[in-house]
Amino acid sequence: MRFPARHMWRRWSLWLLLVLLVFSMLSTLVWLAGRYEVSQVQTRIERDASDAVTDIRTALTRNAQSLQALQFADRTSVPWAQDAANLVREHREWLRIEWRDLDLNVIAAVDTPFRAPVFARMGRSAKQPEVVQACAVAKRQSGPGYGTSSYVPQKDGLGVEVMDLCLPVITDGQLTGYTVASYALHEMLVNMVGPQLARSREVSFTEADGTRLAMHGTSRRGSRVFTARQLLDLPGHTMVLRMDSWRAAPDLFPNVLTALVTAMAIALVTVLVMLARDMRRRQKVESDLADALAFRKAMEDSLVTGLRARDSEGRITYVNPAFCEMVGFEAKELLGHGIPAPYWPPERIDEYGQRQALRLAGNAPPREGVESVFMRKSGERFAVLIFEAPLINAVGTQTGWMSAVLDISEQRRVEELSRASQERLQATARLATVGEMASLLSHELNQPLAAISSYATGSMNLLQGGALHDPQLSETLSSAIQRIGQQAERAGKVIKSVHDFVRRRDQAREAVAPRTLLDDVMPLVSLQARKLGVRVEVRCPPDLPQVLCDRTMVEQVLLNLSRNGMQAMVDDSTHKKVLTLAVRPAASNAVSRWLEFTVADLGCGIAEEISEKLFTPFFTTKDEGMGLGLSLCRTVVEQHGGFLSHHPNQPRGTVFSFTLPQP
Ligand code: ADP
Repeated sequence: MRFPARHMWRRWSLWLLLVLLVFSMLSTLVWLAGRYEVSQVQTRIERDASDAVTDIRTALTRNAQSLQALQFADRTSVPWAQDAANLVREHREWLRIEWRDLDLNVIAAVDTPFRAPVFARMGRSAKQPEVVQACAVAKRQSGPGYGTSSYVPQKDGLGVEVMDLCLPVITDGQLTGYTVASYALHEMLVNMVGPQLARSREVSFTEADGTRLAMHGTSRRGSRVFTARQLLDLPGHTMVLRMDSWRAAPDLFPNVLTALVTAMAIALVTVLVMLARDMRRRQKVESDLADALAFRKAMEDSLVTGLRARDSEGRITYVNPAFCEMVGFEAKELLGHGIPAPYWPPERIDEYGQRQALRLAGNAPPREGVESVFMRKSGERFAVLIFEAPLINAVGTQTGWMSAVLDISEQRRVEELSRASQERLQATARLATVGEMASLLSHELNQPLAAISSYATGSMNLLQGGALHDPQLSETLSSAIQRIGQQAERAGKVIKSVHDFVRRRDQAREAVAPRTLLDDVMPLVSLQARKLGVRVEVRCPPDLPQVLCDRTMVEQVLLNLSRNGMQAMVDDSTHKKVLTLAVRPAASNAVSRWLEFTVADLGCGIAEEISEKLFTPFFTTKDEGMGLGLSLCRTVVEQHGGFLSHHPNQPRGTVFSFTLPQP
């Protein structure tokens, strides 16, 4: 799948943002962990410093009590110096214990046995300001008072920071003197602060401004120093206890490790969530795909058109059920089958092979399809119409050909049938023409032959009556024989006309006056009218134009219509029997170049159901009728371009009318 550049950029920028976020989150995590660790260490050292101050305070109080005990002791039995020496031995933090009078003059003093006398060099005068200050506090508070610490230089070049403690000596409620104990600050730290506190730390006394007075502990330097300060508030003097701890800066590695594990956990959860989402999306796509496939399969299975796909080597890669049904092979027999295909008739393998080679060379087949012949599994050949189209895959490359195959054998069979029946029809039509000609001839010849026969009978009668000797009768006789000649000639013309008509030759058209046509048929019409007792009326205006027609055939039409009209009136004895022949310009159009001929009778009329079949050949209601008259009339009129119709006459009977064109 290809993405546009903008889309790609957005994708990448999102990833970048995500990485940045994760990175900053991890950094924050590491930093916070470091901070937490530092605060833990700081809290611990603060607590330790406060513990140390409490320890010192407790020890100082206890020491003050010990000194108090020294004062209350009975001075008579045990000398003061001995008690003081014991105390000094027990308390290494004391450098010296002095008994002073109210003016602070030293009455007795004991130095610590653990070191050379500290004050030997400088001496201890009564007016030493630190002692004066301490005792002033002690006197004021009637309890222990501390003096400001001072530096006492020693012989070895080093010095000792000393702080004096002054306790008032009260005898019988009277202040009688002071006990002064000198603390070495360094020893205080050594002896009063718990050894476990001092082990990993540096404990020191400093002044409020930070000047270091005494120090104890490991003076180790690490990359980071944690410091806690606690105030040691004593009556008369205030010092600061400072505790320093060294600790390497919080280790980065464990924190980074924690952060990495956290990040990996987050990443894992994220990946899981993404996987779940991806899975869901995949499942949806899969189900959509399955739906689409099912739909496509249903569509392919429902097709009646055979579908066949072939790869670029001509192997069959797909066939649908319709194709299998068409060729009679199962899909598994066809799939993967190369050239020649099993449904190729063996006799056409060469031809099809060439066509296939052309197709594989990339020649596109004609759009309208190719007709071919396939062979069913049973060996039966059948005609097919094949439409081929290139098979294009998802990346636009042609991978083969897809063909739609139509079984046109049924169509071919129907075409064959229709051709055969057409031929049969034509043969039948030719036979029918022969029959029609014979029928027409017999029909049309009936009249002249009947006329000839009746003229001949008349002539015979005349001859038997001795007409040869009677000039008047012999004239009638010659006229009758002349008529016989005319009718025979007419019969000949009828035969020719009917023959021409049946052969559909162009008839000899001529311009004839309507009157002439009527006059020509009148002798025969009158002859029949006389026989049937019918009166014939003719209405023909003198100034009518001529008509262009085949004279004999039109006369035949007039004769047929007249005879039908008279026959319709023959059984009716109650009404008048009048047949009217008329000609007039066709009324439908003023500028018409048509003349309308009508033959009207007062006969029985034409019933509805008969009217429908009137012009059907061989339809007749008469015993001796042939049912060809009206059919012939209509054919003749229509060949002239005219129109034959009929409608009821008033008050009864029927009017037949037809039109003929003017020249
Ligand atoms: P045919 O006269 O030999 O019966 P036609 O084709 O001339 O054959 O006429 C077909 C039928 O039409 C006749 O049998 C008759 O019933 C009917 N017919 C024709 N002309 C008339 C008419 N003028 N009046 C009543 N019926 C008619």
